Amino acid sequence: MPRRPQAGPAATRRRVAYENAVVGWRLWGVSRTDGVARLRSPFRDTIWPTDQPLVATCLGTNRALGTRSAAHDPPGEGCRCGVYGGTYRGLRSFLSTTFLPPAESAVIGRARLWGDVVEEGTSWRAAYAYPDRLLVPTLLTDAFHIADDLEAYHVPVLVLNVADTFAALNPTAYPPGTW
Ligand SMILES: [Zn+2]
Repeated sequence: MPRRPQAGPAATRRRVAYENAVVGWRLWGVSRTDGVARLRSPFRDTIWPTDQPLVATCLGTNRALGTRSAAHDPPGEGCRCGVYGGTYRGLRSFLSTTFLPPAESAVIGRARLWGDVVEEGTSWRAAYAYPDRLLVPTLLTDAFHIADDLEAYHVPVLVLNVADTFAALNPTAYPPGTW
C-alpha cells in the first residue's frame, strides 16, 4: 500500500461515473495557438481539448517528499497528479493566498471531474475533467475575443465586468440584494 503524504488532510478515493461527476471550481490560464484562445492548466502547459476530456498525466515531479511510488495512473496517492477542482470557498482562499503573475490571464469557472477522484480537504484531483461553466473577467485583455473562442468548449461562457468579478470572489463584501 502506498503511504499517504505526511502532511495535509486525509484523502479519500472513489470512482465516479461521468453522469455523477464532481463539479469543482478552478482557474485556467489562456493559451493562444494560431491566435485562437484555449484553456490551459495554470502552472503547467497542458491545453484543455475541446469536445473531449482532459486526461490527467503524472509527471512524477511533484511527488510528496519521502514517497517512492512506481508509475501510476493519476490521481496517485502520495502524489500531486490529477486534474484539480475545489470548493468555491477553497478557490477564494487559494486566490487570496497565491501569487498569480500578472501575465497569467485567469479564467474562473467550474469543471466536471470524474474517473478516479481523490478528495483532500476542500479540493479534488481527478483522472478526467471537462469544463462545466466559464467566467471570463473583462480584466483580461481581449476578454470578448477570448470568450468567443472559448465557446468551442460548448459550455456556458459568461463575461464578467470588474465589479461582478470582485463580487463573485468576495461575496461578503456585497450585502445581499445589492447585486
Ligand atoms: Zn502521480
